Amino acid sequence: MHAKEHRGRDYTPLFKFLLAHVGKPWNEVYSEAVSRLDRADPIFWLVALTECDRDEFVRAGESSYYSGLYVDDSGLLQRVNPKLGPSSLAPECKCCTHTFNGVRFTQPFRLSEFSLEPGSNSET
Ligand SMILES: [Zn+2]
Repeated sequence: MHAKEHRGRDYTPLFKFLLAHVGKPWNEVYSEAVSRLDRADPIFWLVALTECDRDEFVRAGESSYYSGLYVDDSGLLQRVNPKLGPSSLAPECKCCTHTFNGVRFTQPFRLSEFSLEPGSNSET
């Protein structure tokens, strides 16, 4: 088995290539993508082959997020959730620059994310 790790390798260009070809025939996108790579599996970090593998977004590295993709019934590459964008997710921490499809998150980091609303349920 070739269990070689490719950690630290940057697949940003591949992910951007895939995103730029949403709506295009998957066969063509795949063969072009695979011809530029030494291995095919990073393609499937973003592209789900089965329905249960579909994710709205995929995390690549510490703070880079990308749209989850799939192939529709007519063989076209599609986003799992086309509405998802840089304003959809909140950053997990303050120290990193979080990006969605290469675009910076528009939501600020908030510590109050999990705090309860005060005075909404007063029992006396
Ligand atoms: Zn951080």
